[in-house]
Amino acid sequence: MIIVLKAEQAAPTIEALKQHFGSDHDIFVHNNRIAIQNITPDDLTPTEQAAAEKIITKVPAAVQASRLFHPEDTIIKTPHSTIGGDNFTLMAGPCSVESAEHVLKMAKVTKNAGATVLRGGAFKPRTSPYSFQGLGKAGLIALRKAADQLALDVVTEVMDVEQVPLVEKYTDIFQIGARNMQNFSLLKAVGKTRKPVMLKRGMSATVDDVLNATEYIAAGGNHQIMIVERGIRTFDNKYTRNTFDVGAIPVLHKLTHYPVIADPSHAAGHTEFVTPLALAGVAAGADGLIVEIHDDPAHAFSDGAQALRPDEFNEMVTKANTVHQALQSTK
Ligand code: PEP
Ligand code: MN
Repeated sequence: MIIVLKAEQAAPTIEALKQHFGSDHDIFVHNNRIAIQNITPDDLTPTEQAAAEKIITKVPAAVQASRLFHPEDTIIKTPHSTIGGDNFTLMAGPCSVESAEHVLKMAKVTKNAGATVLRGGAFKPRTSPYSFQGLGKAGLIALRKAADQLALDVVTEVMDVEQVPLVEKYTDIFQIGARNMQNFSLLKAVGKTRKPVMLKRGMSATVDDVLNATEYIAAGGNHQIMIVERGIRTFDNKYTRNTFDVGAIPVLHKLTHYPVIADPSHAAGHTEFVTPLALAGVAAGADGLIVEIHDDPAHAFSDGAQALRPDEFNEMVTKANTVHQALQSTK
């Protein structure tokens, strides 16, 4: 249940409600709103009821993610980016960090196009255990160094709980991969940190599944969360790797205050479809894009088939900016 308190009575009533319910119920406070788990309006005292402007009883399980609890957009600030609200954030880089030289070369492409976040996997969740698994710590160091040299933020995947302290040292944003979206131990572990988390929607996850996954992070006190639509599995993956669920973008914006980022690369799976899907994501209102780039896709260590070459990436960015500006001008 969420209680929206009358402004002048909010502070003392929040204290009273904490005293009343705090020992047996989970309580979350946002401005003059308080969410208390597993109670009904009848459990409130007459004084508590009188202080309420509105009582919302039909509340989703992921209450902290909900606009009912937190109506305004969450805006995440990293050293070089502002993510969410009216901002548009570009993130790009290779699928995997391949070497210090290569990631720096790709970071320059990222920077020159106006992106502010450098991506690159040092720990790779591969379909086969015999495929390249990532450079590990050396990859993190190379990624951080390239980003620092060019004043970019870093986003990189953390694959399991034990890696959290190491990855935290080198990244600005934790990436939780699609395959780990419901790894609740991992979600709890990043929820205990105070670094932003970029949560990728699982390939078979519903919208509510992804919102519930964010709640595991928020339950630990970390509210700097963004959600990535990266395509889901449907009946046809003959021509695209996944089905880009463009409809999920406005739906998520309606339901949650967290920024929504579109990943056209993992949805498309093929270079030629990346730009159209990116533009669809922007037109649907995505708060940013995360895109894989490579100067020699045929020899990429992973996901070469979907990598944009630097010139293709520059062209995509020009188009994406045009669509974003057009959208802004209609607001
Ligand atoms: C990636 O970002 O390279 C990646 C593995 O993505 P996903 O978890 O969406 O498959
Ligand atoms: Mn990839």
